[in-house]
Amino acid sequence: MPSSPYQKQLDELLKKLASAQTDVRVKPEHDKEDKYKHDKVFKSEHDKVAKHEHDKLASSKSAANLKPRLLLHACCGPCSSYVLEYLAQYFEITVFYYNPNIYPQEEYYRRLNELKAFYTRFAPAANVNVVEEAYTPEDFYNAIQIHEHPERASEPEKGERCRLCYKFRLQKAYEYAAAHNYDYYCTTLSISPFKDAEKINTLGTEIALNQKVTSDQEVSPLWLPSDFKKHGGFQRSLELSTEYGLYRQQYCGCIYSSRN
Ligand code: SF4
Repeated sequence: MPSSPYQKQLDELLKKLASAQTDVRVKPEHDKEDKYKHDKVFKSEHDKVAKHEHDKLASSKSAANLKPRLLLHACCGPCSSYVLEYLAQYFEITVFYYNPNIYPQEEYYRRLNELKAFYTRFAPAANVNVVEEAYTPEDFYNAIQIHEHPERASEPEKGERCRLCYKFRLQKAYEYAAAHNYDYYCTTLSISPFKDAEKINTLGTEIALNQKVTSDQEVSPLWLPSDFKKHGGFQRSLELSTEYGLYRQQYCGCIYSSRN
């Protein structure tokens, strides 16, 4: 699988946090072959602003001997399994379940209850809190503007409907993270080979940086870049699903994906 600039950015940040946190020392085995130059990883102007802010935050947390607080948007237990295993040693994590795109309601609660039950048995989730937002499907239909654009119902995954679906959930996650003083926000969505990691990372970065422009304050929370399917992440999520007997849904979530 080709490398990903977003995963490299995350690797670089985790390296900094690992060297800064006195109780975090073991780097995952699958990261050890990664060799890259830090400055080549952060190329765009957005990336440079983000890098500066990441560096500042890592230093301040290091000085205080604290783990950064991460709000991790998650769509289901299986997608969050590997991500928690991967990140829990570096961050104090809250999982944010906001997925009004899921259809029908029974499926929404099935995924949520599966996630909660799984966390009671999964060691990396031992200190993870789950925040559940309201199930408001009209927010999804408004976000994708389905009434104005009925053709989006038949789009394949990774199109405009999906971009808008990522966006409204990330916006909500950002707002919650900002209101509750999280250092970072992120989503598990990039673990899926059916999701567009570039769109997800672009949206996540823009939401945080646009806030900085409009408020003229420090960027907080920062977007945590990722492409979790890399480093065998997707494969590992399959293994964990088998090991813990997790329910893996057959479609992404919305009514349109359930028909395809
Ligand atoms: S396919 Fe998935 S990401 Fe795309 S709109 Fe439906 S639920 Fe959202």
